[in-house]
Amino acid sequence: MNKQKTIFAGLLILLIVSLSFFLLQNHLNQSETLIGGEHSQPTQEIKGFQGAGAHISVHIEPLSDTEDALTRWETMSQLVELADSYGMKLSLHFSASPANFVLQSSIRLATLRKWEANGHEIAFHHHGQSHASWDGYSNDPKARFESEYKGTIEDLLETVSALPKGGVILSGSGTDEDTDWPTGVIYMTNGGSPPSSDYLISKIDTVSYNDQEILFLTKAPFGVDKGFESTSVEFIEEHLTLIEQNEYIGLAFSDTDIGKYFDDVENLFKLYQEHDIVTSTLDSLLGE
Ligand SMILES: [Zn+2]
Repeated sequence: MNKQKTIFAGLLILLIVSLSFFLLQNHLNQSETLIGGEHSQPTQEIKGFQGAGAHISVHIEPLSDTEDALTRWETMSQLVELADSYGMKLSLHFSASPANFVLQSSIRLATLRKWEANGHEIAFHHHGQSHASWDGYSNDPKARFESEYKGTIEDLLETVSALPKGGVILSGSGTDEDTDWPTGVIYMTNGGSPPSSDYLISKIDTVSYNDQEILFLTKAPFGVDKGFESTSVEFIEEHLTLIEQNEYIGLAFSDTDIGKYFDDVENLFKLYQEHDIVTSTLDSLLGE
């Protein structure tokens, strides 16, 4: 009898211990599931574009001949039409020769002023003597002895200033700024390669040329063939949510190349549209 009791008690204790162990194990598993669950499915904050805005500088480069001029005028017309269909505003940075080409035709000038009235900006563009294709203008006293010399920066600015209705150019871009930055042009974009976020994303900064304080933003090349590594829509998309409240996304197009990349431009505009980003002109962004 005693032996039976002992066996029974032993079995009972074993049952209780097993049951306790099972319940404890089950509890621990549940806890782990909860903790693990929190880690594997974090409550991720959906953060869209938080930046201050975006801008596009279109470089309208020096012309080589009349055929080139007509082709590039057509490219620019199509680009403005594409931008308009997405509500994007462009800053059109004119070199002297394409500015003269517009001024030679009342129809072209009227078209350009229609774009201006629709919110696009007419700006200034200059290739100084350090550039591979100098536009012939410079305020460097030695430049006037060169065979390609066409005039001073004031001459260049006078030509480009004839384009906008009000005759005033506030924004621009160019090389050789120390000698050649024009008086009265107070907003600037500058850029470089490779397409690092250093150029794509910038805060408003200041620089001084010819005793003037210039406000500037940077820009990364987009849709260009050579000389620079082009920025992709994917690269921009990856950086979009990292942009801070006082930062801007800046791009530079060149009218010599951008015609081959309209699909990329459209994808860019679609990306901007998805994130409620509208590109603005430099005078509207920097003039605030
Ligand atoms: Zn250029």
